[in-house]
Amino acid sequence: MKHQISEVAERVLQGGAITFPEAQRFIEMEGWPEVLELAAQATRIREKFTGKEVDLCALVNAKSGQCSEDCKFCSQSGHWNTDVSSYPLMDAGQIVERAKQAKEFGAKRFCIVTATRGLSDRDLPVLCEAVRRVKEEVGLVPECSLGFVTDDQLEQLKAAGMSRYNHNLETAEGHFPNICTAHTYQDRLNTLKMLRRHGLEICSGGILGLGESRQERLQLAFALAELDVECAPINVLNPRPGTPLEANAPPDPKEVVKTIATFRFILPRAKLELGGGREVNLRDFQAMAFLAGANSLIIGGYLTTRGRQPAQDLQLLKDLGFTV
Ligand code: SF4
Repeated sequence: MKHQISEVAERVLQGGAITFPEAQRFIEMEGWPEVLELAAQATRIREKFTGKEVDLCALVNAKSGQCSEDCKFCSQSGHWNTDVSSYPLMDAGQIVERAKQAKEFGAKRFCIVTATRGLSDRDLPVLCEAVRRVKEEVGLVPECSLGFVTDDQLEQLKAAGMSRYNHNLETAEGHFPNICTAHTYQDRLNTLKMLRRHGLEICSGGILGLGESRQERLQLAFALAELDVECAPINVLNPRPGTPLEANAPPDPKEVVKTIATFRFILPRAKLELGGGREVNLRDFQAMAFLAGANSLIIGGYLTTRGRQPAQDLQLLKDLGFTV
């Protein structure tokens, strides 16, 4: 297996691509020695194509709860009985304050997120103002994750200073109907294609542990590769009480590390971003995720759950030899 891994790595390093059957052999490996070999080669690929730079992104949950959609993992869906707090859209000043805090603890990017199916024209002016001020007043790179959007809304956000938009595919096409019925995988794909048409960078990834197979994880990664995403957030399910997936068992650290390493082979140039669920699921193996090809991090907490102290993450990245 060691020979096979280095052969595929050499091809990827030369600008070639890994095939689906090769990725499948990698993701089916069970032993730590093989996974460590895979991680070592994934690190070579990461260093060649993206260097030692790591992206630090902070989020603000600018509008929380009572979402009309029925994503089974999400505590913000109005369909489930969860204890998540609900509030309407923050005003631009509140969002900017959160961006200032994020800058203080080291974030470089700042993503404004709303728990909504899509963006309403009523909310658009507030969000455009927030984007503009996050960029000009705070000096962070503003991103948005506002659900489904129209061409005109995207143009206005872009004019305000937004250059990247997050819209996760979440999981493989074949598994998507098992986790959401209010909209389709194709709806999400259409939005991602729309982003490209508007010249925006794409941030799109998914969640491990939604009951998908390993093969379906690969299908997600290859779909992201086809879209040539700039950033792929990899979240690991942190089961939320009251959601239909509250009893799901998330993948263990070795499975997560192996999946990240395999994703690095499939997406050699993308930022692979560790997102929600990393602390609770990777536990003492968080450093291993970076030694397996990850090179971006959400710091300072997530939408409905807390993260660990940003200073701990900054120390970890320094120890690993990354530059922010
Ligand atoms: S669309 Fe987003 S906020 Fe709404 S239920 Fe799905 S994941 Fe949650």
